[in-house]
Amino acid sequence: MNLYLATKNAGKVREINGLFEGTGIEFISADGIMGNVAEDGDTYHKNSFAKAMAVYEKSTSPVVAEDSGLEVDALDGAPGVFSARFASNEEGANASDEDNVIALLDFMQDVPKGKRTARFVSVFCLMMDGKSLFFDGEIAGAIAAKPAGISGFGYDPVFVPAGYDKTFAELGSDIKNKISHRAMAVTKLRDYLLTISDSDKK
Ligand code: IMP
Repeated sequence: MNLYLATKNAGKVREINGLFEGTGIEFISADGIMGNVAEDGDTYHKNSFAKAMAVYEKSTSPVVAEDSGLEVDALDGAPGVFSARFASNEEGANASDEDNVIALLDFMQDVPKGKRTARFVSVFCLMMDGKSLFFDGEIAGAIAAKPAGISGFGYDPVFVPAGYDKTFAELGSDIKNKISHRAMAVTKLRDYLLTISDSDKK
């Protein structure tokens, strides 16, 4: 089964296809057809719905979109839905991963070790047959004092998942893909897609 993935983030396409490896389900980037989507919703649900709809309107295939973010307790849950644009001065424009990480560490320079708790949240919206369904996942962790590691994308170099002493970027994709917020949401989405593709075969 092929589905569109409504994202312009190549890191996400790579990671999500890795999470579906061996299932016969493949995601095709909808980068070329989705245009610019205003991600101005105040929830991950609203933003994932808006991204999925932008592609669904232009295609007859099922579409999946994900919205995710990092919520830092010391910053009252910021950057949250603004995670991709945290370091951006321009209205609506995403900042580079490096600039977002620098901005986050800057905001947190006086926050002591025990108070640097945070979580990643992921919400997938599946649009097919005129319906939308949501699948979510979350992982708790803490923000490191400085970046470490080269794997992954976004805030991976500064996010240390609970129970580990290395960042996601140091742990690498094998571990991240087993425990992450996205892995948890994808497991729910994959179970649903496999159920419907099995019942299609009967
Ligand atoms: P969006 O879902 O495309 O709006 O972007 C979410 C943003 O949250 C990403 O650009 C990253 O900055 C951050 N983010 C979400 N998930 C992850 C992750 O797994 N690792 C690192 N950063 C993430």
